[in-house]
Amino acid sequence: MVRKYSIKELLNKGTLFINKKVLVEGWIRSFRYSIFIILNDGSTIKNIQIILPKKLDKRIIKKITIGSSIRVIGIVKKSIGTKQYIELQSLDITIYESVDSKIIQKSILQPKKHSLKKLREQAHLRFRTNIFGCIMRIRHNIAFCIHKYFHENGFFYLHTPIITTSNCEGTGKMFQITTMDLKKEPIDYEKDFFKCKTYLSVSGQLEAESASLGLGKVYTFGPVFRAENSNTSRHLSEFWMIEPEIAFYHLEENINLAETFLKFIIRYIIENSMEDLVFLNQCLDNKGNQKKKNFLLEKLELILKFSFKKISYTEVIKLLDQEEKKKNIKFLHPIIWGMDLQSEHEQYLVDKYFKIPVIVFDYPCNIKAFYMRMNNDGKTVRAMDILFPGIGEILGGSQREERYDILLQRMKDTNTDKNKLWWYLDTRRFGSVPHSGFGLGFDRLVQFITGMNNIRDVIPFPRTPNNAEF
Ligand code: ATP
Ligand code: MN
Repeated sequence: MVRKYSIKELLNKGTLFINKKVLVEGWIRSFRYSIFIILNDGSTIKNIQIILPKKLDKRIIKKITIGSSIRVIGIVKKSIGTKQYIELQSLDITIYESVDSKIIQKSILQPKKHSLKKLREQAHLRFRTNIFGCIMRIRHNIAFCIHKYFHENGFFYLHTPIITTSNCEGTGKMFQITTMDLKKEPIDYEKDFFKCKTYLSVSGQLEAESASLGLGKVYTFGPVFRAENSNTSRHLSEFWMIEPEIAFYHLEENINLAETFLKFIIRYIIENSMEDLVFLNQCLDNKGNQKKKNFLLEKLELILKFSFKKISYTEVIKLLDQEEKKKNIKFLHPIIWGMDLQSEHEQYLVDKYFKIPVIVFDYPCNIKAFYMRMNNDGKTVRAMDILFPGIGEILGGSQREERYDILLQRMKDTNTDKNKLWWYLDTRRFGSVPHSGFGLGFDRLVQFITGMNNIRDVIPFPRTPNNAEF
């Protein structure tokens, strides 16, 4: 029996395999002079070169086409070429499926530059492309190190329900789910599967809070769904969210956790995904960023280099107002205390003014959710958003309102149904404590780290308004 290796294993341990017999499998990226096959198996951005014997049957050679899947048993040799240290001298080749070259020409597997949009239209094939392969391997590493961070820091992974009856934030449209035939009037939700109206969850936070008030430190990492019609390059209808929730945590501790956590992830990716990052960096450099070489790598290093700027919402408003007057700039949305920060304001703060990530805290209560802790001024809540260069809000969190009476009042003020959320309110009667947490959009983080302009290019099968194909 000949042992099977991934191309990554072979190339990484190169010298150890010289003159050994090995088995590899993969898809053909190119085929030259009827003897050189360039093979990739997805384990790495790198390919292995296979050298076929000179006198190979013509009928087999005909079947060796781009995209075809093959198995090769061969001897590892030191490569004469400079590109790679080793190559594989084929002794036996099996073709699983030979691809018709006419089909290939219409597909994104044809080795030439394709637009990211075209890749999206063939989402089922794009795992085979260099760029999407890089993104998916990095996406995996990000997910992995998120679990690693929490595990090593005493957090418990909590599975919160996907089917829910409440709209956590009170904002944003939800997808309703039902087993009823909606054509048949009248609609009586008493007869629906759960005997009430149910939705796909927009967040696991409220459940995570109650878990934290028993387990101490928990986090969720799962899919959430939003039916809002925001057809932007930063919004998906189905995306993945990470929500840690920590008992006995004040806002300052929450902010520190968020910063440490984000830096941990970025450092982990720099340490573990460099090959893929370098490839993406090259793609970006070729796309008009020539003036700024190593755009992506420098952007990531910038996150690690400095402490994030911490500034209150009220100070932000003052600053933007002063800038408008001093520098003669005009924002589309006028600067008034109480407004929500728009993308233009976030961009100005992060990309033009501070030039590092910014944490804005203590927002007006009127633009934030009911569960955020009221400050003594009666006007602001202990909320915080982290704004990242080029992408804006990447993470949003708060210290939660732990005082029963104030929470109840806030629910009334914001028209939050306290009957549905009786259990949430109830946690404030059984040993309530200060606690905090945040929500980090996983896909938006992947988007930032990979430098992709469109969030649809960092998730395998994006769900967006008018699009649920694949
Ligand atoms: P935004 O203003 O960008 O729409 P939000 O205020 O609605 O964000 P939150 O409800 O605080 O966001 O959700 C927490 C995090 O989830 C955000 O910081 C962001 O990273 C991410 N996020 C929010 N909406 C989406 C979406 N539609 N697609 C992908 N990620 C999202
Ligand atoms: Mn939103």
